[in-house]
Amino acid sequence: MREDSRLVCAGRHPERFQGAVNTPVVRGSTLVSPNMAHWLDRKQRQGVDEFGVSTYGRFGTATHHALQEAIIEIGGGYRAQLYPSGLAAISSVLTALVSAGDHILLTDSGYHWTSEFINNTLGRFGVQVTRYDPRLGANIAEFIQPNTKVVFVESPGSETFEIQDIPAIAAAAHAQGAYVVMDNTWGTPLYFKAFEHGVDVSVQAATKYIVGHSDAMLGIASCNEQTWGAVSKTSQSLGQTCSPDDAFLALRGLRTMGVRLRQHWVSGLQIAQWLEARPEVEKVLHPALPSHPGHALWKRDFLGACGLFAIALKPVPEHALHAFIDNLEMFGLGVSWGGYESLALPFVPAGRTSTQWPYAGPGVRIHIGLEDTADLIADLERGFSAMAKSMRTASVEDTPVQASA
Ligand SMILES: *Cc1c(COP(=O)(O)O)cnc(C)c1O
Repeated sequence: MREDSRLVCAGRHPERFQGAVNTPVVRGSTLVSPNMAHWLDRKQRQGVDEFGVSTYGRFGTATHHALQEAIIEIGGGYRAQLYPSGLAAISSVLTALVSAGDHILLTDSGYHWTSEFINNTLGRFGVQVTRYDPRLGANIAEFIQPNTKVVFVESPGSETFEIQDIPAIAAAAHAQGAYVVMDNTWGTPLYFKAFEHGVDVSVQAATKYIVGHSDAMLGIASCNEQTWGAVSKTSQSLGQTCSPDDAFLALRGLRTMGVRLRQHWVSGLQIAQWLEARPEVEKVLHPALPSHPGHALWKRDFLGACGLFAIALKPVPEHALHAFIDNLEMFGLGVSWGGYESLALPFVPAGRTSTQWPYAGPGVRIHIGLEDTADLIADLERGFSAMAKSMRTASVEDTPVQASA
């Protein structure tokens, strides 16, 4: 079956639900058995990790199991665990794989809260971390210590968009007995086949493109066989679960993710190209542009691009940057991404130790949604005009927005 067909069919069993096309929301904490034999059989099958067997709501109902089945069929791996958010997936997986005295290598481009969790929580339990330049590739070997248990990758980083050489990093990590955990939210299970490139655990903030409609929080960790035991046991001990309503929304989102992502890709690239020609823009950071330093790696390993990228503006006073953002009518100002709507968010990368934001001006992260791109371009033109007008009325006290702000 090809991918678009798989997206439609994966994890669906209408015959079990009176013919309902979508697996219904099955709510349940207590899941009763008709007799002792049934109960003991269920407990035994759950004990040997049989798929889709549950004795309690915390271990999932048919809705959760349908999503777990679908995600493995689409993105690969052995089994998947669900979480109430993408960050809960990341923190639980890391807790599962490291112990006191162990060491984590974390890409400097990683999601901010991943680094917060490692420093502030795992740090209290004696876990060490070293941040590394995401562009290292096979040279990551020089940073791997005897106690390195996890090499955490995120490609591309969701602010600065460096593409990592995941197969080279995975080869080096595995040679030293370390696992590779990937935040694959940008690539999604469709555009980056994590397990084919040596990843051991692939995490999705399903909040983004899988749910796809900005209306639910959800995390998924897909594991290979070597990591599943630890990840599932630790996640169960931590009491990780998610609402069946949110699992249902993720399943619904999955069915249209192929067509949605194709449009995010085409529209995003069109806007990125338009921005590349704008005089206000210093650099467009989009891996699918030939001008991107990671373009060759993106072409080699990825099957597409989502709608998220960034621009570095030329230096501007703060009020001009605010005028740009405040005069955008179609772009929402907010975090998260992956919904059907466009967003624009100024940022300055924070907390980095091995890479630097090399531009004099601030970054603006852009998510291109499913609106007509002509309307989005007109909106950006409106923002740039307001920015220019604001610059003309600038006073000498204006402080430029520094990259170190
Ligand atoms: C949003 C995001 C997360 C966290 O997901 P939540 O569901 O918001 O907890 C993790 N990684 C990346 C790259 C993200 O964009």
